[in-house]
Amino acid sequence: MKTELKHYTVEEILKGFVYNELEGKGLFGLDGKLVIQPEYQRNYIYNDGKRDVAVIDSLLKGYPLGLIYFNVEGSTLEVLDGQQRITSVGRFVTGKFAIKVDGREQTFSSLTKDQQRTILDTPLDIYECDGTEDEIKAWFQTINIAGVPLNKQELLNAIYSGPFITRAKAEYSNSNNANMQKWQSYVNGDPKRQQILEEALDWVASSQGLSIDAYLAQHRLDQDIAQLKTYFTSVIDWVGSVFIRPPDREMRGLEWGRLYEAHHGTSYSATKIEARVNELRADPAVHSSKGIYEYLLGGENQPQLLDIRLFDPKDKRIAYEQQTTKAKVAGESNCPLCALGGDTNKARIYKQDEMDADHVTAWSKGGSTSLSNLTMLCVPHNRSKGNR
Ligand SMILES: [Zn+2]
Repeated sequence: MKTELKHYTVEEILKGFVYNELEGKGLFGLDGKLVIQPEYQRNYIYNDGKRDVAVIDSLLKGYPLGLIYFNVEGSTLEVLDGQQRITSVGRFVTGKFAIKVDGREQTFSSLTKDQQRTILDTPLDIYECDGTEDEIKAWFQTINIAGVPLNKQELLNAIYSGPFITRAKAEYSNSNNANMQKWQSYVNGDPKRQQILEEALDWVASSQGLSIDAYLAQHRLDQDIAQLKTYFTSVIDWVGSVFIRPPDREMRGLEWGRLYEAHHGTSYSATKIEARVNELRADPAVHSSKGIYEYLLGGENQPQLLDIRLFDPKDKRIAYEQQTTKAKVAGESNCPLCALGGDTNKARIYKQDEMDADHVTAWSKGGSTSLSNLTMLCVPHNRSKGNR
């Protein structure tokens, strides 16, 4: 890879600057010769009133903006590193936002001529890199974008850039997508940082036993994203059909892809599920609200998902030994409920693995999970008392 240090002024770079408000990205500069956001680049994320303002402050104070890298692509140039900074300056100069100078809100056009010249005449140090696509991408992985390193999915987007990623980003990395709010009730993260896309890819890739890397390698040149879309939509629609309530905050960020794979073949009564969600969310014994959804999907077989405290195995053994010794002397069952009953189990001595620990005073009523509040019951009696 060949690199050459060039010098441009801000004014030269911004000649013919175009910012696409809808897609939220800077597009062109250098009088049309420069592509500011090639498809492997991340979206513009500096428009937060802090990082973009800091770029302009730096220029006004005469601080350098740091190195910028362009990729030579035939007769055009692409920004390899520096897109956020260039787009910030371009947006300011074209009147897209204001900054405070000496306590007053100022747009570019309200600055003094001297201040405007200070910005436009700032020299930028730019390395123009000429290499193969693979060289550029390998190198792109090793550089750190000023202040905000690329996250995992942003890197993958760069490495596997192509028609598939372009279309996938248009769907899942676009905050203006009409479905985004619904998706974000179930999926954590920022679409601009590619986190919705990452989840969508993870779900479909995992369903085929693949990593996101491997999936993208297979589909890189695909002209459509139908499979990705269909799978993602199926998962989201399935969650909404089983849990008909407006999504709880705790539903956000659950592993819905895995849960869909495990349970979408099971039929559920949405109204019964709804009633149980309400009961469990109101139950003080349930420490993990996040676990409720998977617990119900699994048929209420894994109470550990609810983070209800369990008895210590040592306490269970001690209680078992004490009850059993007493029961043998009295000639009755070591399950106190069987001993009370009149049936054939009245004098039955259970083995420890035929019994379960039960709270004498229910956990939900403030009973402690300690030896003093522990009775061993036979499994059927323990079950019939329910999970209280
Ligand atoms: Zn019993």
